[in-house]
Amino acid sequence: MEKKDSRAIKCLRYFMLIMFLITAGYALLGELFFPDERLDSKYKCEIYTSGWTQVLPDGTEIPIEIPGSCDAKKNEIVRIKSTLPQNLEHDSVLWLWSLRQDMRIYVDGVLREEYTTKDTRYFGKTSSSAYIFVELTPEDEGKTVLVESQSDSNYTGVFRDIYFGNKTSILRMLFRQYGVELVVGFMLIFFSTVCIIMSICLKIFYHREIALEYLAWGILTAAFWLINNSIFRQIIFKNISTSSDITFFCVMLLPLPFLLYMNKIQNGRYENGYLVFGVIAALDTAICILLQAFNIKDYSETIVYTCVICGCSVVFLGITMIIDIWRGYIKEYRLIAMGIVGACVAVLVQFFLYFQKADVPFSGVAMAAGLIFLLVSAAVSAVREIVQVERERKKAILANESKARFLANMSHEIRTPINAVLGMDEMILRETKEEHIREYAKDIQNAGRSLLSLINDILDFSKIESGRLEIIPVAYEVSSVLNDCYNMIHTRAKEKGLRLHLVNNESIPKRLKGDEVRIRQIITNLLTNAVKYTREGEITLAVDGTRLEGNKLLLTISVKDTGIGIKEENQKKLFDSFQRIEEKKNRNIEGNGLGLSITKQLLDLMEGEISVESVYGKGSVFTVKLPQEILSEEVLGNIAARYEEAEEKKKRQTRQFEAPGAQILVVDDVTINLKVFKGLLKETSVQIDAVDSGKQCLSMIKQKKYDIIFLDHMMPELDGIETFKQMKKQMENKNKETPVIMLTANAILGAREEYLNVGFQDYLAKPFHQDDLEAIVLKYLPDRLICWKQMGEKTEETEESETLKQTLLERLSFLDTAQGLSYSMNNEGFYLEVLKTYLANRNDDLLEELYEKQDWENYRVQVHTIKSSSLYIGANSFSEKAKDLEAAAKVKAVSYIKEQHTTFMKEYKLLLNRLEEAIKGE
Ligand code: ADP
Repeated sequence: MEKKDSRAIKCLRYFMLIMFLITAGYALLGELFFPDERLDSKYKCEIYTSGWTQVLPDGTEIPIEIPGSCDAKKNEIVRIKSTLPQNLEHDSVLWLWSLRQDMRIYVDGVLREEYTTKDTRYFGKTSSSAYIFVELTPEDEGKTVLVESQSDSNYTGVFRDIYFGNKTSILRMLFRQYGVELVVGFMLIFFSTVCIIMSICLKIFYHREIALEYLAWGILTAAFWLINNSIFRQIIFKNISTSSDITFFCVMLLPLPFLLYMNKIQNGRYENGYLVFGVIAALDTAICILLQAFNIKDYSETIVYTCVICGCSVVFLGITMIIDIWRGYIKEYRLIAMGIVGACVAVLVQFFLYFQKADVPFSGVAMAAGLIFLLVSAAVSAVREIVQVERERKKAILANESKARFLANMSHEIRTPINAVLGMDEMILRETKEEHIREYAKDIQNAGRSLLSLINDILDFSKIESGRLEIIPVAYEVSSVLNDCYNMIHTRAKEKGLRLHLVNNESIPKRLKGDEVRIRQIITNLLTNAVKYTREGEITLAVDGTRLEGNKLLLTISVKDTGIGIKEENQKKLFDSFQRIEEKKNRNIEGNGLGLSITKQLLDLMEGEISVESVYGKGSVFTVKLPQEILSEEVLGNIAARYEEAEEKKKRQTRQFEAPGAQILVVDDVTINLKVFKGLLKETSVQIDAVDSGKQCLSMIKQKKYDIIFLDHMMPELDGIETFKQMKKQMENKNKETPVIMLTANAILGAREEYLNVGFQDYLAKPFHQDDLEAIVLKYLPDRLICWKQMGEKTEETEESETLKQTLLERLSFLDTAQGLSYSMNNEGFYLEVLKTYLANRNDDLLEELYEKQDWENYRVQVHTIKSSSLYIGANSFSEKAKDLEAAAKVKAVSYIKEQHTTFMKEYKLLLNRLEEAIKGE
């Protein structure tokens, strides 16, 4: 939280404010009320109005008023005359303003100053407006001054203020009168440039276009106009003609940015209208420039049309705003509308003032103030918009994060039941003898695995999207990766009748460092696609490598197939997310369009690349190039040959392992998971202790030394990681050296990395198959505990027990055995065990006793147990009755209990007797 200002800081702040006010007040006082102390204050500057006469061509003189205009035709030379005053100093000057006129000033018949751009300008028929200084000396006192002016414009014969005084005082007077306009002009340039830069940055960094940019261009144009039109332009610019042309350019251009701006903030509602005015303004600009360039008509003559276009644009804009008020759209840009109205009022005031006093040069202060007002209101509205954008962006990020979290959690939630389904299905596959059941179970396996791979893809995709997928380089054996990938795809290829080849450059290094898991994923993706999109022929997995600088190898893996191929135009789209090619044609092929996109993104993360060459209808080659660190110079050798050899050996060894001496602890809060775990390892005869909480795990490890501990991640109270940490700390832990393996259905982002970092020996992702579980048990069990047995010996024995079980089920006809079995992994042996447990844990006597004592609390606990355990054995209706009693005991509805108890007990005892009878001798 922000720290509040201390008292001392507050005092300092107040002092600063007061001092600021004093300073400002003092400055104001000095300026308004104190005497003029300037050295040149003695010099006066005044409008020189005295005794001006117009000298007609025939020499006659008629008195005229200055400022004012003489009667004359276009291009006629107009002469006016006066006498210079008596009080001339050494730096006295006469100051005149030429209105697009050529001027010559004579003192006593001698030419003192001449202004014309006739020989220097490139375009136009008249000189630009400018001021002229005529320097005077005391000798000039009382002499006649003659001003000759000529213009090919409507300004012929027009004379504005003529000043007399010393140079500094005249300039000071002009600055006081017109300086504000200049300062405001520069301010406008500054602000509008800032706005333009801001808008461009927004465009680049946020890909967001804001309307303010157009307005800023408009205001920049207006500011250019103000400065170029200023009376001081000849102090600022070198070439007055260009500067004067710029003023006209600006006026002609002015409507365009404003029209574009309005179109944007009105969301294109009046686009056609704005287009019409925009095109007219653009045409006007082009025509006026051409007319001036070819000296046909000067801007000063065509400006009136431009002004009409500007005026009409403003009127149209006003009409659109009125319509918007009517239709309620004005709410969207209320602040800007206020700014526009303010600016329009300012412009009107400006012109009103100008026409009121047409004899002074134009000053745009009011207009500039209006534009500032518009810019500020537009900027405030843009800032609001930016804040809104920022808020939306944050919201989007949050939404994205929660999406990623949701996906991660969903995947956990989905993977857990799939674990149970696939686990149980595996049991069916192993134990069923009926062919059609086996077929169903195989279908479940296939569908379950596809579902799982889809979930994994989506999860990877969301991880990559949120930038949370980490690449973890580890040391790995190239042969092991290739073998596993080859193995994995081998059966699928065989099922489709495809030949699968593995070729490798024998001389590439054997041990590399890289993210083994992701490399496996990439190769598997490519191989799976090759099998999916190939009907006949062969698939070749080729591995090569080239040495790079340092200790690096550019590993090249290519997967070539003789499949359907990919059209050239589709090859670019291959690596886009959710992009499936020729969807109609391939609709029977399973896929989600994520595999190649994930592959590409994984490779990007690993600084690798992927390319594809394909001939439509003939086949494709996907090639991956990936830099890896070399860990050993030992060469890889021929993997294919080694693989064949190993396969042969395997065929000869149809053995299965047993480890009756092995002790395994499994910790999982979900009972069914524990049961599946135990069931899958049943044939290995390992001794399994199963507990359902981290706490129990901590007490078990004090009592017994285990060979492997499997620890579930998501558990209430102590979760897997916390339990693991506490295990490490525990002094009496007999299992300090025991490998601890994380059981995880939890695919939460970064989990894999987390487990290994925490110190787990390994992890096993749920759902796991029997092979996976057996493999990991084999990997971590000491060899001395493992013995191998020949497969197939048990068949007869199983068949025998099968008949036995059949009769058992018949004897249990008073139960819903289908349901009972479903709770027991459809394993009759296991079901029998549950039934026996049910009998062993009978609590009829205890229940009678509690009834006598009227201990309703404990009575409730006992009927609750009966309720749930009866469900497990398939005694559904009886369980229902227990449920009613439980509910009654909970609210101490004694009369109901008394009414029901005796019948309930009778039924319970009958059930127990029948059960006893049925399983007798089993
Ligand atoms: P999918 O899950 O659809 O297979 P991928 O991202 O792996 O998604 O592939 C995208 C598309 O690329 C596929 O839908 C398929 O049309 C095409 N494709 C990928 N591999 C091959 C291949 N080996 N031969 C032909 N087409 C392929």
